[in-house]
Amino acid sequence: MSDEVVNLEHDVLLFDLDGVVYVGPNAVPGAVDAIAAAVSRGVRCCFVTNNASRTAEEVAHHLRDLGIPASADDVVTSSQAGASLIAERVATGAVLAVGGRGVWEALRERGFTPVPTFDDATVAVMQGYGPDVGWRDLAEATFAIRAGLPWIATNLDMTIPTPRGIAPGNGALVGAVATAVGRRPDAVAGKPGPALLLEAIQRTGAARPLMIGDRLDTDIAAGGRLGIPTLLVMTGVCDEAGLASAEGDEVPTYVAKHLGCIESGGALPLHDPGRWQRVKEGR
Ligand SMILES: [Mg+2]
Repeated sequence: MSDEVVNLEHDVLLFDLDGVVYVGPNAVPGAVDAIAAAVSRGVRCCFVTNNASRTAEEVAHHLRDLGIPASADDVVTSSQAGASLIAERVATGAVLAVGGRGVWEALRERGFTPVPTFDDATVAVMQGYGPDVGWRDLAEATFAIRAGLPWIATNLDMTIPTPRGIAPGNGALVGAVATAVGRRPDAVAGKPGPALLLEAIQRTGAARPLMIGDRLDTDIAAGGRLGIPTLLVMTGVCDEAGLASAEGDEVPTYVAKHLGCIESGGALPLHDPGRWQRVKEGR
C-alpha cells in the first residue's frame, strides 16, 4: 500500500446537509468550524439537498442559525434542479405543483406559474415532498400525466426521518402515482441523479468540486457517476460495514470520521491509497 496522499485543491465544496452539516435542527459537532475555515481560505461552500419542501432561503436561514454564513445562493435544492429539468422541456406556463413551499417557489424562480389543479393550460407536473400533500394532489398529478404532460420528480427518497420516526418520503408518493399511471417519472432531480450536482456546479462555476456526503447510494453515487471526487463522512447513516461493502460509483474517494479533515486545507484521507496507486500505474 502506498503512503502517498493526494492533495487536491478544490475550489468548491458541495455539502450534503442532513448527517453532514446538521442532524435535525442541530449542527454536527465540528462542522461549523470546519466550514468557516474553508470559507476563510476562499473555498466556495455550496449546500445541495434532496429535501424539496423547504426553499433555499429557509435552508440558508437554518444554516445561519447554526453559525454558518450561508445565503440562499449557496443552497441548491432538488426543487430548483427539478424546475431546471422542466425548463429543458417546456419554456413557460402553468406547472402542476405537488409539494411544499420549496416546490412552488422554485417554479416561480424559473418563470413558471405553479398551480394546484390540472387543466388545459397546464404544461408539466413537478412532484416533491410536502407535509400537506394529499390524495387530491396525487389525483391531479395522475390526470395530468395520463393526459401526456412531462412529469418531473424532485427526488425518490423512499423515507424521511421525523421526530416520531421514519415516514413515507417523496419516492413513496411518486410510487403511488406511478402505479396509477403505469410508468415512472420522465426525470428525477435529486441525488443519485446528476441534475442537482450539475445545477450546483453550473451556479458556482466550479472547476474542481468535491462532493461531501454521508450516504453511499445518494451523495457518493451522484459524485461517482459524474466522475467528481467524493468525501464520505461517518457522521450520518453510513457505518463501517456499509462502507466495506460499497461497490462501483458508491466507493468514495476519501473517507473521514467527520468534517474536521477539511479544516486545514491539507491532504484528504484517501479511502484506499493502494487502489489509487493501482489507478495511477494503470493496473
Ligand atoms: Mg445526508
